[in-house]
Parts: sequence; C-alpha cells; structure tokens
Amino acid sequence: MVEFDVVIVGAGPAGATAAIILAQRDHKVLLIDAEAMPREGTSAGWLNARAAPMLKELGVSSRPLLDCAFRHVTFFNEDFSKQAKPSFEESPGYLVDRVQFANALVKSAEKTGVKVAAGSPVAELRHHETSVEAIIAGGKSVSGRLLLFAAGRISPLLEQTGIPVDSGRDAMWTAQVDAVSSPAKGKTEPHVAVVLGLDRTAGFAFCAVSRSRVSVAINWLGDRAQAIPQLVRICKALFDNQTLPVDLTERARDCRVVQTPTAGALDMDSHVGKNTLLIGDAGGFVTAAGNEGLYPAMWSARIASDVVSAALTSKHSQDELMTFEAKWRTTMADYLRSPNTDLQFLLPLIFSNQPMADRMGAAFFSGENI
Ligand SMILES: Cc1cc2nc3c(=O)[nH]c(=O)nc-3n(C[C@H](O)[C@H](O)[C@H](O)COP(=O)(O)OP(=O)(O)OC[C@H]3O[C@@H](n4cnc5c(N)ncnc54)[C@H](O)[C@@H]3O)c2cc1C
Repeated sequence: MVEFDVVIVGAGPAGATAAIILAQRDHKVLLIDAEAMPREGTSAGWLNARAAPMLKELGVSSRPLLDCAFRHVTFFNEDFSKQAKPSFEESPGYLVDRVQFANALVKSAEKTGVKVAAGSPVAELRHHETSVEAIIAGGKSVSGRLLLFAAGRISPLLEQTGIPVDSGRDAMWTAQVDAVSSPAKGKTEPHVAVVLGLDRTAGFAFCAVSRSRVSVAINWLGDRAQAIPQLVRICKALFDNQTLPVDLTERARDCRVVQTPTAGALDMDSHVGKNTLLIGDAGGFVTAAGNEGLYPAMWSARIASDVVSAALTSKHSQDELMTFEAKWRTTMADYLRSPNTDLQFLLPLIFSNQPMADRMGAAFFSGENI
C-alpha cells in the first residue's frame, strides 16, 4: 500500500523546504532523516539574502535566525599581502548557524503537517512501477508515489536512485573551525573575510565574525592531507592581521575534513530517475564561485516541488518529472556556473581595481558573472 504522495529522504535545507511546500499544497509527505531532531551542536555559515523572502513563505520566522546581516567583506590573496573590499548596495546575506537553520525548517515542516521520521537512516531504496519504497535500518518499510532524494552528495544511498552522479570534477575538501567569541574592540559590525586563490585554483577560505561567534572554513581542491595545515596557516594569519578576535589555530588542528560537492549539477545529464528527483547537495546544487549550498538547496527544492505537484496530478507522472531538468537549468544554471574567466588572470585585478573587487563580490555572493 502506498502511504504517502511523496517520501523525502534527507531533512536538510533541501528536503525540509520541499516538504513544507508540498504539504502547503495538501500533499501527504513523509520526511525521513538519519539524525535525531532537533539536531544538536552549532555550525557557523552564511545564508544568501535572496533566501529571506522564501523563509517567510515557508513559515520560518526571520528572528532570531536572520538577525546578523553582513555588509563588510574583505578579500585577501593567498599570502595575505594584498586585500580588497568589495562594496554592496545591500547586504548580500546573513551570518547564520547552519544547524539552527536546518532545525527551524524541520520544525516548520512538522507544523505544516509533514510527518517527520527522525533517527531513521534509510538503508535501501526500491523502485516499483508506480511507487518508491524506502527501507529504514531495522527493516521498517515506507512507500510513496514519488521520491525526493535530498540526503547529500556523499550518501552511499545515492547510487540506489539509479541516477549517475559522477560529475568528473575534483573533490573539494572542507574543514571548519568555530568558537564563541565577542568582537574585537571597535569592530562590532559582523564581517566576512574570504581568502581567494588557495591551491592556485578556485580553493578559498571563508571567515565569519558575528557579534557572538567566529568561524573559519577552508574549501580546498588540493591534496586532502594539506587541508588542515592550510586551515591552521590561515587562522594564524587572520589572527595576526586582527581579522579574527581570537586565535583559532589550536582548534583548527583537530578539525574534521569532509568531502563536499563541487558544482556538479551543471555536469550531470539528468536529475530524474524512476519516480525520483535529486535536489540539494545530492544533485550537486552548489555554486562554483563560493561553494554556497543553502540557498541553492532551497531553490532546487522549490522547483522540484512544482514539478512533483504537477506529476502527482498527471496521468503521465514520469513525463512531468522529466521537465525538472529544463526547469532548473533555465533558472539556476547561470547562478551556479563559475565566473567565465581564468581566476589566476583575474586575481591581480581584484586587488588593484575597485570595480573588479565589486564584481568579484557580486560573483561570490550573488552568482553574477564577472
Ligand atoms: C563545513 C561546511 C560549511 C558550509 N558552509 C556553508 C555556508 O556558509 N553557506 C552555504 O550556503 N552553504 C554552506 N555549506 C553547504 C551547505 O551546508 C549544503 O550545501 C547544504 O546543507 C545542502 O543541503 P541539503 O539539504 O542538500 O543536504 P544536507 O544539509 O547535507 O542534508 C542531508 C540530510 O540527509 C540526511 N541523510 C543522509 N543520509 C541519510 C540516510 N541514509 N537516511 C536518512 N537520512 C539521511 C542527513 O542526516 C542530513 O540531515 C557548507 C558545507 C559544509 C560541509
């Protein structure tokens, strides 16, 4: 018996966003996640300002989530000998706690009528002619007419969607260190520093200083073993040049390195399987310039929800699902694509020419082309 219209595997920003939108349209939705909810812990990050109106539609209160808009950004070059400050007409985003953010979406999903199965790792997916079945570890089985797969890019379950995902791009290694801290004297405004051109490619480090927290994340395309030494070097340099009010070098040494998706969505032939769509990180929906994934996860979920809604009322649901590919490409492809210029050529200009710094700011934070 098919119990749900849609089963969503993964209650991160992508899965939870889709769950809310589909439940708002009176579809019967099951949202499954391996982790217990609410998730514990903290993880600093930034959310694109474009996500704010979406949050309202999703029934998520902007306070206190979006209390920390930032406008002050400094770009550094790899050896910190040069810096540039892009200007923004409006704040490009908010410093957020990614754990709190994802929890707020799941809470709103529950309020909207979504059934949430937390602490339920899905071990197997079975694709039938008119439904998809998810087998949860322990043996319980649930089924839905359609499946949204939103369990991230490194889930072994991804293969079972039947959609080939190898984008052929290099692995990006990410490690993040954060701590509670009050701002340095005279620097009470939230600010962000981005170290560009790491590993002589598109690798970068992202440092965020809010009123109560500091964090530094490295996005490294080189050898995995070098990610932590580089993070330590960057934390030290940012402390020495007074960007960071606290020394994070010791904490950085103990960080965990995880693999994150590079902008794989653009290289994939399809995000559509039998009664199935891939959204969020699972579909490689992250930007090439800044490895931004929160807003693209929500955006891909919103497009997928429209497609799924139409598929549920269509006699030819698979044909409707097939429209997802064209729909996300028409709207999202330019946003995800890397600036169409060689970064090594561009970097010196960013540090010597204010309009180029501004354009890099728009590319990094708003997906614009340079
Ligand atoms: C260290 C780090 C810092 C980042 N900083 C930023 C930032 O500042 N700004 C930004 O925009 N992006 C940032 N990102 C990227 C962003 O977090 C992701 O792109 C975004 O979370 C993707 O959302 P998602 O819902 O697709 O996947 P996820 O958030 O990864 O959620 C996937 C969910 O699926 C669940 N799951 C996995 N396997 C199973 C299973 N078998 N059964 C059931 N559930 C399962 C997981 O428990 C998880 O809750 C960062 C990423 C990292 C790693």
